[in-house]
Amino acid sequence: MAVNIVDVIRENGVVGAGGAGLPTHVKAEATVDTVLVNGASCEPLLMSDPYLMEEEVDTMIRGLEAIMDCTGAGKGIICLKGKHEKAVKAVKDAVARDASGRLECFVLKDFYPAGDEQVLVYEVLGRTVPERGIPLQVGAVVSNTESLFNVARAMEGKPVTHRYLTVGGEIRNPMVVKVPVGTLVSEVLEFAGGPTISDYKVVDGGPMMGRVLPDTAQPVTKTTSGLLVLPPDHNVIAAKVMDPDKLRRITNTVCCQCSRCTDLCPRNLLGHSLHPHKLMRVLVNNELDSDIAKEALLCSECGVCEKFACPMMVSPREVNARIKRILMKERITWESKGNTLAANPYRESRAIPTKRLIQRLNLAKYDVHPGYAGEFTPESVSIRLGQHIGAPAKCVVSAGDSVSCGDLIGEIPEGAMGARVHASIDGTVASVDNGVVVIRK
Ligand code: SF4
Ligand code: SF4
Repeated sequence: MAVNIVDVIRENGVVGAGGAGLPTHVKAEATVDTVLVNGASCEPLLMSDPYLMEEEVDTMIRGLEAIMDCTGAGKGIICLKGKHEKAVKAVKDAVARDASGRLECFVLKDFYPAGDEQVLVYEVLGRTVPERGIPLQVGAVVSNTESLFNVARAMEGKPVTHRYLTVGGEIRNPMVVKVPVGTLVSEVLEFAGGPTISDYKVVDGGPMMGRVLPDTAQPVTKTTSGLLVLPPDHNVIAAKVMDPDKLRRITNTVCCQCSRCTDLCPRNLLGHSLHPHKLMRVLVNNELDSDIAKEALLCSECGVCEKFACPMMVSPREVNARIKRILMKERITWESKGNTLAANPYRESRAIPTKRLIQRLNLAKYDVHPGYAGEFTPESVSIRLGQHIGAPAKCVVSAGDSVSCGDLIGEIPEGAMGARVHASIDGTVASVDNGVVVIRK
């Protein structure tokens, strides 16, 4: 009997590893002409994707071919930056070995945000994804490197149980490491030699789009691409933790309406109706029912405006995120005006070189390109039942149950969109509480 690839991906709990965690079986059900592998690794300091491209390229390509087969795509394009020379060589060699002629390697320039799905689709295919749209609407699926690695493992009957991530910043031994999903951040940091400073914050993800963790007792999830340890007063941290009233005051008094944020906004440069400088006034004047306010729904929260463009160090990204949350709560949606989207003719010259971004972020001393340190297995894991877009998984184990790595512990609720969750170590279920399953070795 033919294997249903979509079912296999669903059964093994594969979710988008590079972003918010959209269950991969949802993408795999689409029909497209091209699958793009997003190996841009565009967030500064994160290195796990180039590592996987370099060391696991054949596995990743098996995952790519599986997604191409179920979406009907005739072309699979592996996209990565030229600066990751070993990874580029590994990919080019693999493409040369492929007899089908369906695979290509696309070498990207080193700019931010090359890995934004919409930017990537435009760079590689010259197609503009509609405002508030997704690549499927222009015949493409974009899949992250580790997601495809996990698809290949799923085809071998292995569920998603581990995560490759970068540990960087103020840490003794910066590294790329493989850990079971549910490993506590504190233990990962300890494995990497511990922080080099006593007072610090940890960013889950990259410096541009990652979020500051409330503490280190948080578990690694299927979407944790990096853990960056930074001083609490570092400018990467400041805007992410700003008090809403302070944000409003600063927006009111400091923004000079120079419109530099709009000039460099990657979505505006693609032709989308997003003008962050105008949105700054929306918050100040409380004009949330205006047409301009709705533009916040088009913001990808890439952080270019906040971390690079603004000379006054204010945060249009944070303003947009807050407006967006309010509009989404009120179920206000974006209505396209039907305009033809045309990219800005200066788009290429306004791309932000990653090296300059790293300097501007004051991260140059942490830009050390760490190597792979192997696998770390803790004594216990705390696995969230909700670590993906959609409904949290329904727990199917109880305290006292024995489980092996890969056993199902969370099922997709009947009729809901979601992802299955599996045990990531062998052991005994110690507790099921607040949507978290604790397993001890
Ligand atoms: S770049 Fe900064 S100061 Fe200029 S309009 Fe945008 S938010 Fe205001
Ligand atoms: S975060 Fe700023 S630069 Fe990025 S898409 Fe939103 S408005 Fe544009």
